[in-house]
Amino acid sequence: MPAHTSRKSVGLANGHTYPFRVGRSRTGLGVFATEPIKKGTFIVEYLGPLLTNKQCDEIPDNRYLFEVNARWTIDGKGRSNVARYMNHSCSGNADPVIRDRRIRIKAIKNIKPGEEITYDYGKDHFNAYIKPHGCQCDRCRAKRRKHRAEVRAANARKRKRAARKLALAAAERSQSPR
Ligand SMILES: [Zn+2]
Repeated sequence: MPAHTSRKSVGLANGHTYPFRVGRSRTGLGVFATEPIKKGTFIVEYLGPLLTNKQCDEIPDNRYLFEVNARWTIDGKGRSNVARYMNHSCSGNADPVIRDRRIRIKAIKNIKPGEEITYDYGKDHFNAYIKPHGCQCDRCRAKRRKHRAEVRAANARKRKRAARKLALAAAERSQSPR
């Protein structure tokens, strides 16, 4: 990509500009809105050569293969496919829409400038590439935080109970007749 990164939106050879920039995210690179994006807007197309699923079986696996239907897959690993920088989220603000062997990413929520644009990669990709490392999306991080807090609270309750039992035992010992 040419040195357009300081501009508000990423410039393209055909003069088209995107309402987002590629920048640093929690998991590496991500896509961030540079202007408000209305729910229902098509944000970007997922671009790459169209391969038959049979051809896909013959090339080395890559995480940017996006199956369009039972017959076709788009190989989105090319760097000009900026949509490949969009990260997965279990509660994303965008969604891929597949039609006529094309994949376009559509906003499913109103997106504010600065917000990361994410979509749900789907179960197969999640299980193969994301689950093994633990999902880093906001929802999963919040879930893990909540779980850790619950474990901490349960441990604190256990410790308190144990302390009470010890105090009781000590009191009983000091009261027992000799
Ligand atoms: Zn998640």
